[in-house]
Amino acid sequence: MSLISLNNVDFAYRDTPILHDVSLALEEGESLGILGESGSGKSTILRLMLGLARPGSGAVTAEGTPLDTRSRARMQAHRRFVQPVFQDPYTSLDPRMKVGRILTEPHAALDLPGDAAAEAARVLQAVGLPADSIARYPRAFSGGQRQRIAIARALIARPRVLLADEPVSALDLATKVRVIELLTELAREITLVLVSHDIAIVAALCPRMIVLQQGRIVEQGATREILRAPRHPYTQRLLASLQHMPVETP
Ligand code: ADP
Ligand code: MG
Repeated sequence: MSLISLNNVDFAYRDTPILHDVSLALEEGESLGILGESGSGKSTILRLMLGLARPGSGAVTAEGTPLDTRSRARMQAHRRFVQPVFQDPYTSLDPRMKVGRILTEPHAALDLPGDAAAEAARVLQAVGLPADSIARYPRAFSGGQRQRIAIARALIARPRVLLADEPVSALDLATKVRVIELLTELAREITLVLVSHDIAIVAALCPRMIVLQQGRIVEQGATREILRAPRHPYTQRLLASLQHMPVETP
């Protein structure tokens, strides 16, 4: 059974249609890339997967059951099931909270089992940050370290699915590479959806990908195959911008 699926989803902001007949299924253990230009609807798909938005028509399911965003109990269970990491680690972490509190707050809010302090130590280790990070504020950390903290916060819930929305777009190149390495390592244990406008990032992390153009899926399949022989002109255009960059596929 798919962990998350979108079945013939249409979505509009007020009267502006954004997604058109989007269907996709996320399988346990995979890393799925969603590639598309800015404004193509990638973040909207993640908002639907998180239950932060409801489809106009069609359905979003988690483990086979339609997501009822009006049920508080279901939504709390869903927040333990799927966790997001956002693009900008400078705005996604509350500057007034020490890292310890950033990590223990979701533990309390989601009513998670285990000792909060021990769990904070666990996730800091998982993202390669020292245990004493808990006593410091986000401003004491670099952009890459802050993104590690955001990833650690997402891992507190031991989610089955991690949704990463342009997780390295705000980082410089060297930091980008190290955060991609971390995500690659985490992806061995957790199902990952990675959203990016950058085909090189998707290619580095995701064996399967979906190409989104103006709210429509125009191509999907094995990343290796799509890179070798893109069928849709839009994918061909996105790939052309890459010609000079060597790409390692998983
Ligand atoms: P992406 O993540 O691919 O850049 P988004 O899903 O954020 O795309 O946005 C898709 C489209 O929806 C864009 O045209 C954007 O301007 C529009 N949009 C996003 N959020 C809102 C909103 N809250 N209200 C109205 N339009 C929005
Ligand atoms: Mg976006």
